[in-house]
Amino acid sequence: MTSYKVEVDLHLHTAHSDGTLTPKELITFCKEKDLKIVSVTDHDITSGLSEAEEISSKMGIELIPGIELGATWESSEIHILGYYIDQNDRHFQKVLTDLREDRIFRGQAMVTKLQEMGLNISFERVQKIAGEGAVGRPHIARVLKELGYVKTPKEAFDRFIGDRNQGFVPRKMLTLEEAIKLLVDNGALPVLAHPLMSSAKPGRRSIAGLSDLLPIMKKWGLVGMEVYYGSYKTKQVNELLSLANHHSLIPCGGSDYHALGNPIEPKPGDAGPPKESVERLKLLLD
Ligand code: AMP
Ligand code: ZN
Ligand code: FE
Ligand code: FE
Repeated sequence: MTSYKVEVDLHLHTAHSDGTLTPKELITFCKEKDLKIVSVTDHDITSGLSEAEEISSKMGIELIPGIELGATWESSEIHILGYYIDQNDRHFQKVLTDLREDRIFRGQAMVTKLQEMGLNISFERVQKIAGEGAVGRPHIARVLKELGYVKTPKEAFDRFIGDRNQGFVPRKMLTLEEAIKLLVDNGALPVLAHPLMSSAKPGRRSIAGLSDLLPIMKKWGLVGMEVYYGSYKTKQVNELLSLANHHSLIPCGGSDYHALGNPIEPKPGDAGPPKESVERLKLLLD
């Protein structure tokens, strides 16, 4: 799809949020895929970064410390990635702790809804799988699979826990402006995640009014946008690349790998920006 060999993947999850691999397993897999620069971008949590940093430096991979935040815009949910985050920022960590706490209550509320729908699922099992990490719907999906209600995590999203299904409960999120500004105040570089719908995640819709929203987000501090994402088709990549160029946003991207075991799941290195994008990000760091 791309005219260059993908050596950069800036969107990866571990078991510290809703992925299934440890940071060590993930980085080892990235090495097998011959990746040179990667970013671990867990949801609302940075606890996987130290292990990822240690193993990356041993393996000669450049690791960009990252994060993924959910944010609300009008009535939709938009994800923002932050690169080169400062993990020692106490205010930043306090905000993340609050978001994770709400994820637990929301997980419990979703399990209650699923029980009311007649499913024999317990929150204890969800919490056990999530461990100390950020609880997310993929953990609930895994339990539904374990219990035999669905064959794949994707089927759980399609039938029970997608945002239009009966088992869904929204979680607490920052507004789009708050999320971008939180990253800017942290010294991190905010990048818009997956702006268009993706065949690997059918519940996800394209951001409405994207081209009007980009200048607003830029004013708040957005520096880039995912262009080379997961299972995006060439047409989508081209559309996003021209939008990124038009708005002077750095084209970023990655696989958004979670190792969830879905039938269609882009692997590390299946999508990613050219190395030049990382050079451009670095020029913005002070
Ligand atoms: P949560 O953050 O708890 O709302 O869970 C959303 C997470 O589920 C995202 O990180 C997605 O990567 C993952 N996910 C997996 N499959 C889907 C799907 N079909 N629709 C939406 N999210 C999905
Ligand atoms: Zn996720
Ligand atoms: Fe996301
Ligand atoms: Fe993600």
